[in-house]
Amino acid sequence: MNQERTAVIVGGGIIGMSIGWQLARRGHAVTLMERGEIGCESSCLAAGMLAADAEVGFEELELYRLSRESLERWPAFARELESESGLDVDYRSEGTLSVADDRDSAVALRRVYDFQREQGINVDWLTGLEALDMEPFLSPRITAAVFAKSDHQVDSRKVMSALKIAFEKAGGNLFEQTKVVSIEPDPTHPGVTTEAGDKVMGNVVVLAAGAWSKGIDGIDSVLRPPVRPIKGQILELKVEPPFALSYVVRGPNAYLAPKSDARVIVGATAEEMGFDKRVTAGGIYKVLQGAWEIVPGIYELPMIEARAGLRPGSMDNEPLIGWSQAPGVYYATGHYRHGIVQTPVTAEEAAIEMDTADESVWLAPFRPGRFTSSDLKA
Ligand SMILES: Cc1cc2nc3c(=O)[nH]c(=O)nc-3n(C[C@H](O)[C@H](O)[C@H](O)COP(=O)(O)OP(=O)(O)OC[C@H]3O[C@@H](n4cnc5c(N)ncnc54)[C@H](O)[C@@H]3O)c2cc1C
Repeated sequence: MNQERTAVIVGGGIIGMSIGWQLARRGHAVTLMERGEIGCESSCLAAGMLAADAEVGFEELELYRLSRESLERWPAFARELESESGLDVDYRSEGTLSVADDRDSAVALRRVYDFQREQGINVDWLTGLEALDMEPFLSPRITAAVFAKSDHQVDSRKVMSALKIAFEKAGGNLFEQTKVVSIEPDPTHPGVTTEAGDKVMGNVVVLAAGAWSKGIDGIDSVLRPPVRPIKGQILELKVEPPFALSYVVRGPNAYLAPKSDARVIVGATAEEMGFDKRVTAGGIYKVLQGAWEIVPGIYELPMIEARAGLRPGSMDNEPLIGWSQAPGVYYATGHYRHGIVQTPVTAEEAAIEMDTADESVWLAPFRPGRFTSSDLKA
């Protein structure tokens, strides 16, 4: 442990807070600045699915390996977080049911299933009746399903509350309502300036400002992380008996993630709308219709709230994690749809890289420098 090391973190989403927690546990003096309240953007809104297996993409094997490794680390990460904070994060391990409700979606699901099996992923093919046996509130129209038994979930709001306590207990200094307006790169003493004009220096600055990571002044524009906002509209319903759902259910147009406190989270759109976070009738209609088609029993459930958040998406929709070309500045952003599942591997490996000279094999494919300068100017 090195008591002399100081880190300044910009952004109190799940990525910034968990890196801060890991660095503080390693003995770094950590100051974290969040312009609102921690988790107030994408992180608290997320459905909390740790769905590495169900969400594997055909062209995304490196990303899958990162998510899978992170999912392996989640149980220990959650246990430590719960024990240090004294809060429950609603870790659930029932698995994910991906369902098809017509011939076309069954064909598409079968292609994904064959690919998953080729990759050695632990999934089972179910008939519609077998799926209905497992999850009686599925629509009788379900023709087939894939059960990803190793996928888990958490309640991301509870994770954020726990991270706040664990971070401060480990000695971290948290400043909410503190907006960083510029970052001053430097090989040994990089720093930041807040909107109030305060300057805070450290040995490293971690840029973890989610979808806003590109907009902070100070770093040369071609060296900034090429991250854009991708809007997601999502809603919460109150579960009332006899309705019940045990598994995360994913259909062609929506997913449902049941939580232990009688809520079900239903999501989500993916829209390129800049920084517009308005909830729209069309967005909510689309999500609800997609969910109703696979679990019609939601029709009677009271609505708790509908919200929209901005996922941080990079140019290839994969995260940017590692030392940037701006001296002293480490990037941890661009986690797009996978920021919750990828939290433990990001936080633990990033903290090791900032603490030691070791380079993480897990993070190697996701370095900020992978884009060319012409990519970045485009
Ligand atoms: C609808 C929806 C559903 C999702 N579901 C899932 C899911 O089920 N599973 C999963 O793995 N992922 C999911 N995601 C993705 C996940 O939420 C994100 O990848 C993750 O939250 C990104 O975390 P972050 O810390 O990088 O960003 P954020 O949570 O957005 O945090 C960035 C923080 O930086 C702060 N900030 C910005 N600018 C400044 C500044 N200048 N100064 C100080 N602070 C600043 C912001 O206020 C914000 O709090 C979902 C996302 C959405 C929108």
